[in-house]
Amino acid sequence: MNDETPPVDGDGDGASPCAWCGRPVRQSGTGRPREYCRRSCRQRAYEERQIQQRIAVANQAALAIARDKQLAAADAAATDSSRDDQIRHVTVDGSEP
Ligand SMILES: [Zn+2]
Repeated sequence: MNDETPPVDGDGDGASPCAWCGRPVRQSGTGRPREYCRRSCRQRAYEERQIQQRIAVANQAALAIARDKQLAAADAAATDSSRDDQIRHVTVDGSEP
């Protein structure tokens, strides 16, 4: 008799593929179902998410700065040049015009 159970990747009903590499994920049976087949896949996915998040934050910051500049420009156009004290107060990133 053979006690060895070869790795079968077709028996799990509801077995979902790894969210990173697509290989079938062997569920441990307890707790919530795993998304990744191994730790490195989870790590990669986590890093990827961090990068995406950083890009999104950077984009938002760029948008905010652009909007800030637009507001400052509109303000400058609307008000007299004698009130540029307030405009300087608006810039958040510390860059002087
Ligand atoms: Zn994987």
